[in-house]
Amino acid sequence: MEPILLLAHTEADGSLGKPALEALAAAKNLGGELHVGLAGAEAQPAADVAAGAGAARIFAVTGEAFAQPRYATDAAAAEALLRASGAGMAIAAGTSRWSRALAGVAFRLGGRIDTHATALDIRNGVPAVTRWFYRQRLEAVLTRSQRPWMVLLDTGCVAAWSGAAGVARVETVAIPAVETRTTVSGTRSPEAGEQTIRPDAKLLFVAGAGWTKKQADGATHAPEAEKLILDFLRASQASLGGSKSLVDLSGEGEAVLRFMTHLNQIGQTGATPRHPKGLSTCCHGEEPHAVGWRFIGQRRAVNLDANCGWARGKADVLYVADAFEVIREMNALLEG
Ligand SMILES: Cc1cc2nc3c(=O)[nH]c(=O)nc-3n(C[C@H](O)[C@H](O)[C@H](O)COP(=O)(O)OP(=O)(O)OC[C@H]3O[C@@H](n4cnc5c(N)ncnc54)[C@H](O)[C@@H]3O)c2cc1C
Repeated sequence: MEPILLLAHTEADGSLGKPALEALAAAKNLGGELHVGLAGAEAQPAADVAAGAGAARIFAVTGEAFAQPRYATDAAAAEALLRASGAGMAIAAGTSRWSRALAGVAFRLGGRIDTHATALDIRNGVPAVTRWFYRQRLEAVLTRSQRPWMVLLDTGCVAAWSGAAGVARVETVAIPAVETRTTVSGTRSPEAGEQTIRPDAKLLFVAGAGWTKKQADGATHAPEAEKLILDFLRASQASLGGSKSLVDLSGEGEAVLRFMTHLNQIGQTGATPRHPKGLSTCCHGEEPHAVGWRFIGQRRAVNLDANCGWARGKADVLYVADAFEVIREMNALLEG
């Protein structure tokens, strides 16, 4: 079995974030000699964790320049770490940082990269990568003869490494000065009012356009819908998803759910999050939306229409009910 290199950028305190710990577990599970390559301002805490996981060699590129996510420095660090390790295969978490930098590194080294991997294992004695194609419609298992082969592992697919830390001997990798044009001055997030996307939540709560439509009394009730949904999210700590129809309405600045942005959209042209359970409300459950539910363990929906898309094999349970009434009642139970 060839050596496997885990590439990870460290957090501000030098530790490994959850995505990196997931990638560490995936790399270790392959069973080859484990190398770990770290980039960041500081690396010793992460290196100690890697030592505890049984890493045979631990390399690090450290310095303030590597604290900030920036293509030039991240790519230079990854390239140097790969060259120092000599491993043919490198695994990294599919963070925005590595997703931006590693394709360029694979190109520089004449290798290949596969993104959005959901599993890694050994088939016929060689590493194999599982990933989905065509917006989660087809699952494929790939092996490659080209090296270096870099793999970005989607977050939430593998249980994070959680063993005790060891005492690491770090091999410092020096790299030539990197020319950069980018200075990171800070982070600006979309104005979503409050944080509603929670990838680690047990429940995905989806709101569809029905929340903004005329109800039985012939009127719309957007302010009440907003309050019901936000109260539910606060009490349940669920992650909020939306249908395309709803997030498009919000994008047009109409008087709808003000905390809903395109980042919340689930589906073919949106996100495919991973949560053990999902609850859809006021959403029809059309195929382009429901395809984003591929990795939701148990699916339930509340819709007034007994003939909606969820009823056609897309949900495990469909409650034919008024979502305003259901969520009002649930909030009372959660708060009681
Ligand atoms: C190329 C392409 C890509 C697309 N990508 C996506 C995508 O990524 N994500 C996505 O979501 N869509 C996507 N769509 C759009 C998708 O086909 C649907 O148009 C969209 O999902 C509909 O949103 P909705 O169910 O919220 O709204 P609607 O279809 O308007 O459904 C509203 C539902 O609310 C119910 N309702 C109303 N009031 C209540 C109440 N009080 N209680 C309970 N139920 C109530 C109604 O019965 C109805 O079923 C895509 C379409 C195309 C063509």
